[in-house]
Amino acid sequence: MDYQYDTLIYNVRIASMQDNGFPYGELATTAIAIKDGNIAAFISRDASLNDVFEQAHSVIDATTLIPQTEAEPLKLPWLLPGFVDCHTHLVYGGNRAEEFEMRLQGASYVDIAQRGGGIKGTVEKTRRADEHTLLNTAIKRAKRLCEEGVTTIEVKSGYGLDLDTEVRMLRVAKSLEQHLPVSIQTTYLGAHALPNEFNDAPDKYIDFICDEALPHIASLNLADAVDVFCETIGFSTSQIERVFNCAQQYGLPIKAHVEQLSDSKGAVLAAKYGALSVDHIEYLADSDIPLLAQNGTVAVLLPGAFYYLNEVQKPPVDALRAHNVPMAIATDFNPGSSPLASILTAINMGCVLFQLTPEEALRGATAHAASALGLQDRGVIDTGKLADLTLWDIETPAELAYCINGHRPVAVFKEGKHV
Ligand SMILES: [Zn+2]
Repeated sequence: MDYQYDTLIYNVRIASMQDNGFPYGELATTAIAIKDGNIAAFISRDASLNDVFEQAHSVIDATTLIPQTEAEPLKLPWLLPGFVDCHTHLVYGGNRAEEFEMRLQGASYVDIAQRGGGIKGTVEKTRRADEHTLLNTAIKRAKRLCEEGVTTIEVKSGYGLDLDTEVRMLRVAKSLEQHLPVSIQTTYLGAHALPNEFNDAPDKYIDFICDEALPHIASLNLADAVDVFCETIGFSTSQIERVFNCAQQYGLPIKAHVEQLSDSKGAVLAAKYGALSVDHIEYLADSDIPLLAQNGTVAVLLPGAFYYLNEVQKPPVDALRAHNVPMAIATDFNPGSSPLASILTAINMGCVLFQLTPEEALRGATAHAASALGLQDRGVIDTGKLADLTLWDIETPAELAYCINGHRPVAVFKEGKHV
C-alpha cells in the first residue's frame, strides 16, 4: 500500500533550533513524520497517534532506544538536527605527530621548517599521496565526526596548491559521500599558502589561481565555494580581492580565513563581497562587526585552533552577539593547527574558551553552521527541511556542551534513513 509517511518517530523532545523564542527552539510536539528524506509533518499531542501509525511505513518509539527505569513517566530522548561541521581541512597526506613531538622536545619553528615540517611538509605529502591513500585516511577522519552525529561536512582543498593535487583533494572529499552517511560541501582553497614553485611571486600564484585553477575546478563542478587565507603570512587584501572577483565570475560563493593572527581587514573586504562566512576572526575589530550583520555574513569560530596554538586573543563574541551576527562553531580539522576530530569537543571549547552559552554553541554547530555554507535546507528541524536528525539519551541539550565529548547519538537519520 501507499503510505503517507516513510517513518514516524514519536516520544521525543524536539530541540528544533528554530528561532521560536524557546530554548533550543524546543517544540511542543513529540512526534515527527518523514517522507522522501524530508521532514513532512509534526504530529500534535492531541492527534490520535494510532491513526497516524497506520499512515507510516515504519514507526519508531524513541523511548525504546534508550535505557528506561521502572519509574514512570517514560524518559523521552532528545531529537536534534544533525551537526554541520562547516570548516574542515580533513583531506591531507601524512600527519604532523612527529612535528608535534619535536616541538614539545624544544625544537623551534625554524628547525621544524628546515626538516620539512609545517604546511609545506603537508603539501609535499599530499602531492605524493595517491587518490586511494587520501581517500582511506579521509574516511577514517570523517567517520569520527559522523559517529558524533555530524551529517554534513565542509572540506577544503589547499594542501596541493598545484592543479592536479587540488583537483584530487576535492574529488576525494566529494567521494566521502559514497562511503559514509554524510553530505559533503567542497571548498577550493588555492589561496591557502604560497607553493614553492611560486616562491617570492605571490601575485603570479594569484594569476595561476584566477586564470587556470579556479576556471578548471569550476568547469569540473568540484567546488561549492571558494576560500582564501588573508593574513600577513598568507595573502594580502588586494590579492584575495582578485580571487573573490574571479569566484564571482564563476558564480561561486566565497568564504575567508581572516583576522586569525592580526587585523588585516580581510573580514571587511569579504563582507563587502557578500561572503557566506568569515572564519577565525580573533582579531576582528568591534567597529567592523556591523558590516557583517548588514551583509548576512556568518562568523565562524574555531576554538580548536585557538586552543592548539595557545592563543590568548579571543574573538569579539560580545560584540557579535550585540549585533546579532550568527556565530557558527566548527572543528577546523586540519593536521597543523587543529587536529580535532570532534565537533562535540569544539562545542564545549566554544563555551569554555569563548564564553558561548551551550545554546549558542549548539545552534552554532547546526543552524548557523548550515548558514555558513549557504544551505537553507538543513540545520533546523522544520517541515520541508532534510530529515538529518540525531537522537540523544540526555536530560537537556546543554549536556552535550557541558560534557567534553561525553556523548554519542543513540540514533542518526541521514535524509530520513536510520544509519
Ligand atoms: Zn581553516
